[in-house]
Amino acid sequence: MSDTIFHKIIRREIPADVVFEDDHVIAFRDIAPQAPVHVLFVPKVDIATLNDLQEDQAIVVGRLAHAAAQYAKREGFAEDGYRIVMNCNAHGGQTVFQIHLHLLAGAHLGRFGTAK
Ligand code: 5GP
Repeated sequence: MSDTIFHKIIRREIPADVVFEDDHVIAFRDIAPQAPVHVLFVPKVDIATLNDLQEDQAIVVGRLAHAAAQYAKREGFAEDGYRIVMNCNAHGGQTVFQIHLHLLAGAHLGRFGTAK
């Protein structure tokens, strides 16, 4: 297994506020939240960026999305709505090189995608 901060969280070597876990996915609150709810859904299989996702691994991303939607329903904000985001490499703003899905919720969110 690789050695990003998220792998250390998966291995419980550093603490995180874990809100969901199963055999395939772990979810924990982002340390620097960008919305009232900001949870990261991370697969337990090593995949550095979305560019590295193989066709036979497509279910990995599906599991992240499904876990996020289940969490939104469980927490009661699914109907109000939410945003999921996956950043890839420099232009996408990726800083941790283990794929992950951001779940942002809890308020009307601004538009996105503006170039800096
Ligand atoms: P990226 O920019 O790669 O899409 O997202 C990485 C996210 O991980 C950022 O939103 C950042 O705040 C979060 N993050 C970085 N280090 C830690 C950490 O040690 N713990 C937690 N819970 N989140 C982290």
